[in-house]
Amino acid sequence: MHELGITEDLLAHVLEHAAEAGIKKVTSVRLGLGDMAGIEPDAVSLCFEAASRGTPAQGAELVFRRIETELRCRFCGNVFTPSQFDEPCPQCQRLNLEVLNGQDFYLESIEGE
Ligand SMILES: [Zn+2]
Repeated sequence: MHELGITEDLLAHVLEHAAEAGIKKVTSVRLGLGDMAGIEPDAVSLCFEAASRGTPAQGAELVFRRIETELRCRFCGNVFTPSQFDEPCPQCQRLNLEVLNGQDFYLESIEGE
């Protein structure tokens, strides 16, 4: 399960930010998650709960903000959000697409006291 490695990296970032901000107890963690990132929010939450035990991030709530996929057609320049992964450009029906948005998973902010 690759969510475990991802979550360990995430937790390290969260703890680093908490230390910098002088946060002793993290209450919530806001995350941006692209539709195409291939990451299961529930799996990350479960891993995080286990991995954060005994750290200042224990019990923190993970809040995911979904980032829609955005593709640009290299042929006609049309920018669109596909309803499925391998959808061609709705304007010219070609499949020569560049991903502008939707592959990322990142830490947006943390809150705590
Ligand atoms: Zn096109």
